[in-house]
Amino acid sequence: ARAASGEVAAEPAVTRDGHRIEIAANVGSLEDARAAVRLGAEGVGLLRTEFLYLDRATAPDEEEQLAVYRALLGALEGRPVVVRTLDAGGDKPLPYLPLEPQPNPFLGVRAIRLARRHPELLRVQLRAILRTGYPAVRVMFPMVAAVEEIRWLRGLFEEVRQGLEAAGTGLPRDLQIGMMVEIPSAAVLADRFAPWVDFFSIGTNDLAQYALAADRTNPAVAELADAFHPAVLRLIRMVVEAGHAAGRWVGVCGELAGEPLAAPLLVGLGVDELSMTPVAIPSVKAAIRRWALAEARSLAEQALRLDSASAVRDLVRAATPPVV
Ligand code: PEP
Ligand code: MG
Repeated sequence: ARAASGEVAAEPAVTRDGHRIEIAANVGSLEDARAAVRLGAEGVGLLRTEFLYLDRATAPDEEEQLAVYRALLGALEGRPVVVRTLDAGGDKPLPYLPLEPQPNPFLGVRAIRLARRHPELLRVQLRAILRTGYPAVRVMFPMVAAVEEIRWLRGLFEEVRQGLEAAGTGLPRDLQIGMMVEIPSAAVLADRFAPWVDFFSIGTNDLAQYALAADRTNPAVAELADAFHPAVLRLIRMVVEAGHAAGRWVGVCGELAGEPLAAPLLVGLGVDELSMTPVAIPSVKAAIRRWALAEARSLAEQALRLDSASAVRDLVRAATPPVV
């Protein structure tokens, strides 16, 4: 009974030798936010905002968004929250922003690529997020492929922030700006992106699909887009090294973060924060507690030298220490 109690759920994820990993939740609704708190999330590492925009005839206006963000952030009781700006387009079209038909939606106009064509959409969203005044809000941009894009995004963000400040709006105290690293170019060039952001969050779902050229929604090839693949793990290592060298924190918010088997690999690669579907939190915390940091590091080193995702899984299974 104690294992299921709120007290234990809320305890942090610490390795046997005292290295703490921040555990956060991926959230896409108010119900998810409540589940995240109940299941022991220390924050939200990915708030997907698509739910506000999809399946409707017109875009949500600033006041509507503000009300929804306020309710959602209220449920998180001061925990840090990473709000990701709209990741629509491509396979998730919006009726009020018609796009030319795209033969390869995942390689087409999606996320910030849509925002660049409709900057007003992003301005409204940023204004609503900032107007919440929620102290620990972080803003994160999806699908950044080029340094020039993050410079443009930061510029637009500054413009919005200054506009609100000039109007006397109370802004979040501990504001941070980050980007998802989910396109291989961003991982490889992470050192060039680092000066423009406060943090990186690695989206292993898209990173695996783009690194292995396998559409994650196509059942015929989706199996190839496996985030346990050593090629993906090497990209993660590049991001952590470049991020830490620049003093930035690095999280993982793709589904890999919610896999207990991946926990020692990500800890060993030096990831600071794992953000996952709320139900995965207790088992990932338990997985982290079984390892010492040095063991996880050596495991990750070995994994980086393997040939395949299945070899990586076998390695972790064989090396996992018994429950203490
Ligand atoms: C990802 O790509 O890993 C990610 C977290 O974003 P989404 O699944 O929403 O594309
Ligand atoms: Mg993604």
